[in-house]
Amino acid sequence: MTAYPHLLAPLDLGFTQLRNRVLMGSMHTGLEDDPRLFPRLAEYFAERARGGVGLIVTGGFAPNIAGWAAPFSGRLASRAAAARHRPITAAVHTEGGKIALQILHTGRYGYHPLAVAPSRLKSPISPFTPRALSSSGVERQIRAFLRCSSLAREAGYDGVEVMGSEGYFINQFVAAHTNRRTDEWGGSYANRMRLPVEIVARIRATVGKDFIIVYRLSMLDLVPDGSSWDEVVQLAKALEAAGVTILNTGIGWHEARIPTIATSVPRAAFAWVTRKLKGEVGVPLCATNRINTPEVAEQVIAGGSADMVSMARPLLADPAFVNKAAAGRADEINTCIACNQACLDYIFERKIASCLVNPRAGHETEWVFRPATQLKKIAVVGAGPAGLACATLLAERGHRVELFEASAEIGGQFNMAKRIPGKEEFRETLRYFGRRIVTTGVHLHLGTRVDAQALLAGGFDEIVLATGVSPRNPAIPGAEEQAAAGKVLSYVDVLLRGKPVGRRVAIVGAGGIGYDVAEFVLNAGHSTTLDLDAWMREWGVTDPELARSGLTAPQVEPAARQVTLLQRKAGAFGKGLGKTTGWIHRAALRMKRVETIGGVNYERIDERGLHVSFGERREKPLLVAADTIVLCAGQEPLRELVDPLTRADARVHLIGGADVAAELDAKRAIEQGSRLACRL
Ligand code: FAD
Ligand code: NAP
Ligand code: SF4
Repeated sequence: MTAYPHLLAPLDLGFTQLRNRVLMGSMHTGLEDDPRLFPRLAEYFAERARGGVGLIVTGGFAPNIAGWAAPFSGRLASRAAAARHRPITAAVHTEGGKIALQILHTGRYGYHPLAVAPSRLKSPISPFTPRALSSSGVERQIRAFLRCSSLAREAGYDGVEVMGSEGYFINQFVAAHTNRRTDEWGGSYANRMRLPVEIVARIRATVGKDFIIVYRLSMLDLVPDGSSWDEVVQLAKALEAAGVTILNTGIGWHEARIPTIATSVPRAAFAWVTRKLKGEVGVPLCATNRINTPEVAEQVIAGGSADMVSMARPLLADPAFVNKAAAGRADEINTCIACNQACLDYIFERKIASCLVNPRAGHETEWVFRPATQLKKIAVVGAGPAGLACATLLAERGHRVELFEASAEIGGQFNMAKRIPGKEEFRETLRYFGRRIVTTGVHLHLGTRVDAQALLAGGFDEIVLATGVSPRNPAIPGAEEQAAAGKVLSYVDVLLRGKPVGRRVAIVGAGGIGYDVAEFVLNAGHSTTLDLDAWMREWGVTDPELARSGLTAPQVEPAARQVTLLQRKAGAFGKGLGKTTGWIHRAALRMKRVETIGGVNYERIDERGLHVSFGERREKPLLVAADTIVLCAGQEPLRELVDPLTRADARVHLIGGADVAAELDAKRAIEQGSRLACRL
């Protein structure tokens, strides 16, 4: 008997059956944009099909040039292009999977000068103002959707997903926010919803009855003048009548100022929205957003919120998610921590999407983990992310691995990250590696700070140093004296050692850790990520039956402490934070009225607080009155073992923070550890 009977139950669509209730949500990887990368795309999908996914949805393909996401991004508009998709669909079918092509017309979100939209309104997230379509222009877009659908069928896809949410082209017609037309495509709601209904009805007429049409319906726009709940229901019913097979959920436009997928968003935070539609239509409903474990997915379906779940990033993180759940090995799933660091952030940096916890994602054809030909005895020192990734992969390849960790638990700095309100997911990575240590047979020595002598005496063929970093001491005059009095603390003192923090806090350094420490002291242990109602109140999200679009005035809980965040750089704060998540951290601190002071010189610390000045001439002295000063001034590599080991001719490798501390993050640590493990 499986623990996930609802999740793993087949879904009968009438003309075809899905083997379970897992839809792999559409995710742009960058592999869609160049047919030369299609062999990689095929293997990437094949691996997910092999891992048991019920229905894969591709990243978005534009039906025409006007619908491009960016110049020359993926498009399916010709028979020649369709032929190039055949290896992709064949690869998925060979693994027993099913795959639908997402048709994505970006409308005014298009990052190019040919963008079109219902009205000539620039979006806040693209520098290009779209051209407003004439009626015949609208008809041309519809025909492009039809042609794209029949080409998808010709290419061997099992269906299409029509992207009708997240503020893209179709959504732009539906919502008054972006539709100011006065013709038959604008004005009344009946006119505004005409476009999606027309598209779906005509696709159905074009492709026939035995082809899956998923429609991604924006159920909660989260922008002003978005749809009311009545309108969402009306559209859902009309789409059902027009012939959709599955209604997938869309939450929030890209321009919405409410986080919808970041790690601080509670798990399954929007399943209640899909649930509201249950009973209104007969077609299967799919819930989305922050569903990342089989337990949560099962609960969503068993609790009656939806018939299926969409998971996108969780399948980047672990392609075998479904099979592991089915085999009773859910504790072996490499869980997506919703950090966005190597998936969405990479897309914005125009790189191929991958995954922080699974750097092989998107690189399946290059990274093939082969058993080692020459088995070695290898020491890995440090069980932070770098050491964990390296040790477990080395052991999986057949080496004998001894993993030494000075502290009583594995995880290194992740043991601090996991304590930050909104970063609870980081625990999952430690659970995953804990299990990997057992399944791969790594010999773990906790509470063992090894020195060079012990390592040299151990008879190791290779020694991997993953000893991480130590916090940088910015050596501010008076700090040592005040540290002795408990007034100056490092972030390790605060996050790991639980040292007491006063009511007024000054934070030296506004990097990722400075921001996280601010969250920690502001919220005093309460995490809205674990409290959906509180999270919704704080971000101003409500039932769309009460307020159009689901938007209401935020009700922010008062901060537990008064915080000042400082940096030496002049200019904006939080620039180094994640591309797609930085704004959330900045907004969260603004909500709690954190004061930011940039361009400072740190002059001294005394019992009154932190004294700073400004500019090269050290002018305008200012006292930041504080009970506690927390130092978050970056880090230095911890590599005291390198010299004695290399002097003794040991074969030494450095990874993670021990290698380079500057701009270190877990993404680099895990990737570097994994790459080394492939080589040894
Ligand atoms: P560490 O994690 O520092 O691990 C080194 C390990 O080596 C430690 O466990 C240490 O005890 C052990 N060790 C050292 N010397 C010895 C010895 N002689 N013998 C045995 N063991 C030894 N990164 C992100 O990518 N995203 C985030 O959101 C993020 N948030 C963070 C939040 C906080 C509060 C902190 C502190 C860090 C965060 N990071 C984040 C950074 C991330 O945790 C680090 O980049 C990562 O942990 C570095 O991995 P590492 O393995 O190189 O080193
Ligand atoms: P960081 O991002 O490099 O920030 C260090 C901060 O300290 C900066 O604000 C820097 O700004 C200041 N600083 C540096 N040297 C100083 C000195 N001598 N005296 C005073 N101030 C000094 O490092 P971090 O915050 O320690 O984070 C470490 C790594 O963890 C980061 O690289 C980051 O990627 C990762 N991390 C990521 C996240 C995330 O959400 N993605 C969260 C936490 C951590 P000024 O020089 O302007 O003062
Ligand atoms: Fe999830 Fe982070 Fe991996 Fe993206 S990079 S799939 S958010 S764990």
